[in-house]
Amino acid sequence: MYVLGVDIGSTTAKAILMNEDGKIVARDLIPTGIWVDKAIESVRENVCRQAGIKPNNIDYCVSTGYGRLRVPYMDAQVTEITCHARGLHSVMPDVKTVIDIGGQDSKVISLDENGSILNFVMNDQCAAGTGRFIDVMSRIMDIPIEEVGDFALRGTEPAAISSVCTVFAESEVISKASSGVSPENIMAGIHLSIARRLKGLVGQHNVPPVAMTGGLAQNKGLVAALEKILNCKITVPDDPQIIGALGAAIIARERMMEE
Ligand code: ADP
Repeated sequence: MYVLGVDIGSTTAKAILMNEDGKIVARDLIPTGIWVDKAIESVRENVCRQAGIKPNNIDYCVSTGYGRLRVPYMDAQVTEITCHARGLHSVMPDVKTVIDIGGQDSKVISLDENGSILNFVMNDQCAAGTGRFIDVMSRIMDIPIEEVGDFALRGTEPAAISSVCTVFAESEVISKASSGVSPENIMAGIHLSIARRLKGLVGQHNVPPVAMTGGLAQNKGLVAALEKILNCKITVPDDPQIIGALGAAIIARERMMEE
């Protein structure tokens, strides 16, 4: 028996193929791109190829993420909030607060000791405080996304980035760079600015232990900036970007067993 969890995010499409023992047998992560339907097909093909099975060997599929309703082969669709909560609880059962920062939204989910969701807050209206903000800055500063966090950590005097709007912040960054502020200090300022935006979202919800999921959890500079601003320790699971797809696969396996 095989089950599939797919997380069709705004920026990346992720898939986890699991066997009946709950073991992960294949994983995939590709850019969603503008042709979402193509990415939806490709992630399934890729995990099937890795595992040496055919798509019709998959018994149950749960989809999540912003493109979850477009997955033609899903048996059920589940919200990202539920999938991130389930995925994270399976690898870090003590965690009470999950901060998930993806390409176009950010969420804070509060869990009880059984991993059930107590409440959540979400920002999906504004690019500031999401991956899109850092993606724009990485592009205009010509620093690969994998390296922006390290640049930020090396900054000793973070530049003041005061604009809350991504478009205005972009102009601010260009003007700082042309007035001689180092890329490290600009990046440190950008990361602090995102952390401050996220502080507003987290509010009173940072009950420890706190963990971070989503693509931006791989950014050590952002994790450090958030720890400083929120004044708490933040733990990052292995492979944090795939946690939503993992939660979807776990739910798919449970539903398959029930049926
Ligand atoms: P979504 O589910 O909305 O598609 P993800 O959780 O997949 O979003 O996160 C995508 C974001 O993660 C990208 O916008 C990018 O900013 C960030 N990201 C991806 N890989 C890395 C990396 N290696 N280091 C730092 N940030 C990364």
